[in-house]
Parts: sequence; structure tokens; C-alpha cells
Amino acid sequence: MNNAVYSHKIDALLPTVYPHHTIDQTLDMIVARAPLSLLAMDVQGCVTWCSPLPPAHNELHNEVSWLHRPLVEVLPLSHGEALAWRACLRGESGYVKFVLNGKLIHGWFYPLRDSGNHVQGIAGILFDTGTTEPNHQLLAEHSTDVVTKHNMDGIIHYASPSVTRLLGYTPDELLGVTVFELFHPDDAKLARKKFFGTDRDYQPSEAIHYRIRAKNGDYIWFETIRKLIIDAASQITTEVVAVSRDITERKMTEDRLMYLANFDSLTGLPNRALFRDRLRRAIARAQRNEGRVALLFLDLDRFKNINDSLGHHAGDQLLRGVAKRLLKNAREGDTVARLGGDEFTVILEGIESSEDAAAVARKILELMEAPFKLDGHEIVVSTSIGITLYPEDATDMSNLLKNADTAMYRTKEKGRNNYQFYTADMNDKAIETLILENDLRHALERDEFELYFQPQFDLHTRAIIGIEALVRWHHPVRGLLGPNKFIPFAEESGLIIAMGEWILRTACRFARAWQSPGHAPLHVAVNLSMRQFHQRNLVEMVKQALTDSGLPPHCLELEITESMLAHNVEKTSSILHELANLGIRLSIDDFGTGYSSLHYLKRFPLNTLKIAQSFVQDIASEPDDAAIAEAIIGLAKALRLNVIAEGVETDEQVYFLRGRGCDWVQGDLFSKPIPSSDLLPWLRRNRPHFVVYQQGVLWPEAMHG
Ligand code: C2E
Ligand code: MG
Ligand code: MG
Repeated sequence: MNNAVYSHKIDALLPTVYPHHTIDQTLDMIVARAPLSLLAMDVQGCVTWCSPLPPAHNELHNEVSWLHRPLVEVLPLSHGEALAWRACLRGESGYVKFVLNGKLIHGWFYPLRDSGNHVQGIAGILFDTGTTEPNHQLLAEHSTDVVTKHNMDGIIHYASPSVTRLLGYTPDELLGVTVFELFHPDDAKLARKKFFGTDRDYQPSEAIHYRIRAKNGDYIWFETIRKLIIDAASQITTEVVAVSRDITERKMTEDRLMYLANFDSLTGLPNRALFRDRLRRAIARAQRNEGRVALLFLDLDRFKNINDSLGHHAGDQLLRGVAKRLLKNAREGDTVARLGGDEFTVILEGIESSEDAAAVARKILELMEAPFKLDGHEIVVSTSIGITLYPEDATDMSNLLKNADTAMYRTKEKGRNNYQFYTADMNDKAIETLILENDLRHALERDEFELYFQPQFDLHTRAIIGIEALVRWHHPVRGLLGPNKFIPFAEESGLIIAMGEWILRTACRFARAWQSPGHAPLHVAVNLSMRQFHQRNLVEMVKQALTDSGLPPHCLELEITESMLAHNVEKTSSILHELANLGIRLSIDDFGTGYSSLHYLKRFPLNTLKIAQSFVQDIASEPDDAAIAEAIIGLAKALRLNVIAEGVETDEQVYFLRGRGCDWVQGDLFSKPIPSSDLLPWLRRNRPHFVVYQQGVLWPEAMHG
């Protein structure tokens, strides 16, 4: 519609509506009744004329306050709107939208040009929509969230004041900035797509999470809900409004929780949960590609000893060190995880054959050969590895894990520091072990343990000088079991503590019973395990057992092993002194099989060295063993300790030992371990004679000389 036609129509129309008014009067009335204000401004934007106030605008402005003032001062324009207004000052027409007293006002501005087309002023029309909808602008200005508006190129043309608090920029600084430049490089691609994508995939309510750079260079996590502003007429998206909030703290908490849920905090390796997830995925991948997965299950050998003797700090250091070596050896794509304690796993994907897995296992064993430095000690730790393969051994996660565990235990049984592939028959053995372990829990309350006693003799006087208590288990199904079959489980499960107390108390009671006024005192030797030695109330427990039984302290000898002495000399020394102060005797069992520092031996309050059975066995035929036994006897003499040879089975051994000055002997040649029920009658029969003729074995000839 062109202007000529338009003005003709108005001229024709108005008199029919208001017949008694001039056109000027009619226009005034229209303006006064409509929610409109008309404005004229000079080229600087100062208001020079204002139409009579329409009632609807009463609150909006009044003539006096508006006249001769720059429009930007009287209108609450946001930064974005102010930009549009500035364009008007440069001679362009423009549109602004703002909120006043809760009302949404639209404003249109046009340059007023003279005949030479020079801008002489600005005309403005303000229109009150009377809208009572929630007031977005007002909300934006006062929101703690950041409200921003962007054109479709990402350029910011409005930012709410809260942006300063969150990001440090003033709203002005952000105007004209492309928002993508502020995105974290890792998030930019996805955030941009979600921010400005116009496809319907992105729901307006879908939150976008990304990091945005604050003025100080830090990245802040933002959660943004965006809304596309679509032009009603053209259906073209013209603008994106974004409401963003700082979720950095929440994100950090989430990350931390995520980390805690999936990673082991000591070593930083994936934990059991993440390991299971990775294994499940590896199996799924192998299933698709008809590939193989190998699972290696590692358990450090004698880790508990290190923890017990050097302390948890050293134990932790060791675990971290092991994790580091395993990671260093791993290829990309392999998963090294810690399941807990000293158990580690390695998942190998894309292997061709079992030989590949064996090669990795060998490499790990090799890596472990170098000593670890723990709190100033150099410690060598070996590991036992079990290997199982998908799909050969199992096709699901839990069976793979079980198999690998079983194979690892078999490695331990076969002497540790090695690897084993899982085989089907291992399972039976593992089940057996499990049952045994479970039975052990009830053995004490069911009174299934019994002490056997093996006498010790003086080689010169042939008198019985002591008796070693050796525990046996009457298993309801499997019959009589020796300690090697169950002590390791008792140690591992902690049952050894209660069991050890029973052994000590029982041994003391028997020993009290066999002392008699007519004879020299006869000590009972009781074995202590590593865990018992480090139990907190050991000294108290020993004292109590002595008091309750009435056994004189010098009639009790505790046997400890070299491995208990090897670490943490200060602590060991103080425990030993406390025990010695009770008046009891201390001996080192299986001497020569561990590594004890000779230097420390003289610092400990010891009474006896026991030459290990393994040296005694071939003493007469193996020069090396003979040399070791001789050296131990010499050492004992030098340190003024008693020395006893255990496991003596032959006359030749007796000759040899006697010839080298060994004091005491213990072994089947003289007496096998005797069940407790037979002990007192046995003692009554044999003790008065001092010389033993037991089970048809004569006291060797050499003894008579
Ligand atoms: P140990 O303390 O070195 O005990 C000596 C082992 O040698 C005993 O085996 C004994 O029966 C065996 N033995 C004795 N004389 C001969 C011989 O002439 N020939 C042969 N071949 N063997 C002989 P046992 O009773 O099976 O005990 C094995 C190990 O179990 C013990 O070695 C000890 O370390 C541990 N043990 C035994 N009883 C207890 C206990 O009450 N508590 C703890 N913590 N450990 C125990
Ligand atoms: Mg012993
Ligand atoms: Mg021994």
C-alpha cells in the first residue's frame, strides 16, 4: 500500500468517526486513547517533543521529565537495546523492546531527513503491549543466572549483569564477542552444535554442559538452557537466548564421585567396578570380532608379611610401586586394575594366542625382580599370576574372573613367583580349599584341634630337655590334618589369633602338668606365626596363659622365624624384650632358611637357634648343608646360644651333629610327635630313665661314648 492511497483513506475515514473534530484533533484523540506515545528527538537523541500522555502511559513517563533529556537516560534499555538505539543515532531506523513497570514496551525509531536527505532528528513511537506475561527482561536483569542473547553467528548482543559475578566480564565487554571463542576447546564442538543447532533433535529443555573461559582465564562449568527465537512471519530463527548457571562445584563433586566410584585412590588404577565394566566391554568386543581376551590375575607373594613387619605405610608404597611398574609395561588398550588388597588384574585384548598372554606374564615377573625401596629398606617382592582366556576357558565375566583367581592360587601352591594357565581340573581343587577354609572357622568351637608333642633331647646327657607343641586338626571328613594344610588359611583369615591363644593355653596347661619336683624343669616350645607375633596384646596374652596355667615362665619357649625379625628391627626388638622380661625363652625356628642379619641377632634376647630340617636332612651327604649346619652351630656358640637340630632321622646325622658340638636334637629318630592323650603316660614311662627306647629305635651307639 503506497502512502498516497493510505493518506487518502485516512482523510476519507476520520470525519466519519469524529465528525466534529479537525484531523489534528482526531489524531490527538487517537494518540491519547491508544497505548501510544509519539516522540521527536534531535540528532543527539534528546527528546524535543512528546505527544499528550495517554492514560496507559501515566506511569511510563511525564512530559516534564522527558523533555530535553537523552532518551537512553529515561528508558531502561538493556545493553543490547542500547546498541540498537545507537544505530538510530547513526541514521538508521531501529526497534527496541524494554520493560517498564512490568510492562513490555515496543519502540520504533525513524530518522527524520530534510530535502537534502540529511538526518535532522529522530521520530519515535512507543507502544505498550499491555502484556502481563512473565517479564523476561526484568527476570534477566535480576536473575542470578546469566542470560545472554546471541545472533546465529554466536555473537553476543546481550548479557545480563550477573555475568560479572560469574565470569568477571562486564556485560559491555561481552557485546560483539563470539561466544564460541570462550568455549573450552574440548567442549566447543558439541556445545556449539547444541547451542545453535536448529534441528529438532535438541529439545529446548535439554541442558548443555560445557566449560567457558572466565576473565581470569579459569574455566567455569556452565549449564545452559537455550531457546531459539523464531520469527513468526518468516519462520527463520533469528536469535538464541541462553540461560546459564555455574555448575562448577556440582561438576567437581560429580567428577570426584565418579573418580571414587571407578578408581582406586591409592594407586590411581581402575578399581573393581571399572575393571568389571572394562572386562564386560572387552568380552563384547571380542564377541563381535571373534577375537580373544586374556585375563591375568596377580597377587603379590607374602604381601602380608611386609605389611605386618614394615607397617602399612610401606605396604602402601609397595602397592603404588607395583601399580607403576604394571602400567609401564601395559600396551595402550590394556586395562591394569587393582581389585583391592594386593590383587591386581590385567586385561589383554586383541591377542592371537595364549603364548601372547604368557609373554606378558613373564614380562611382569621380570619387572618385579628389581627391589622396591620402602622406607629406606630394599625389598624384593615376587608375584603369582593366574591366566584365563576368553572364549576358551569361559565366555562370561564372572567365570573368567573366578578361573583367573583359581589359576593364581594354583601358582601360589606350586611355589609362587610364576604364572599358570587355568585348567578345568583346578576348579575341584579350589572348591576343596574353600570348604576347608570354611570348616576351619568352626574347628575351634567344635574342639577339633589337638596338640601333638615332640620331645627334644640333650645329645650329651640324653635327657629330655623340652617338648615342642605341634598342632593337628581332626577334620570330620578328611581325618587328621597337619599344620601346613591349614595354618596358612588361619593366618590369612585371622583365625590364627584365636587358635594361637588356644594352642598357647593348652600347651602351658600340659607343661604345668608334666613338671614334677623330682625332675629338672622341662620346657614346652610353642610356635608363633607372623600374625600372632604382631598382634597387639601378645605379651599380655602370654602373661595371662602363664598365670592361668601356673607354669613358671622359664618353662615356656616361644619359637619365632627369621622372617619376623627381618623387618622393623626397633619394633621387633621391643616385642622380644618385653617377652624376655616375662622370663620366658625365645628360639629361632628353621634358622638358616630366611635372611636374618647376624648383626641384629646379638641385639635380640634369644636363647636358642633351631637348625632347619632342610639342612639336617642331607647333612651327612651334602657338603654345602654340612657347612651351613656347622656354621650355625659355630654362630650359636659365639653368641652363647643353645643350638638344636630338628628333623633328625638317622644315626649319621647324630654322629655329625655331635661331632660339631650341637647341644640338642629333635626328630623321628628319637620320637615322633606324640598325641596329647598319650603324652603323660609316655613321659611317666620314659622320663625317669632319661634314655629313650622309643618305637624300637635304640639310642645311637655314638651316644654311649
Ligand atoms: P616346625 O616348627 O619346624 O616343626 C617341625 C616339623 O617337623 C613338624 O611338622 C614335625 O612334625 C616335623 N618333624 C619332626 N621331626 C621330624 C623328622 O624326623 N622328620 C621329618 N620329616 N619331619 C619331622 P608339623 O607338625 O607338620 O609342623 C609343620 C610346621 O607347622 C611347623 O614347623 C611349624 O612351623 C608349624 N606349626 C606346627 N604347630 C604349630 C602351631 O601350634 N602354631 C603355629 N603357628 N605353627 C605351627
Ligand atoms: Mg617349630
Ligand atoms: Mg622348624
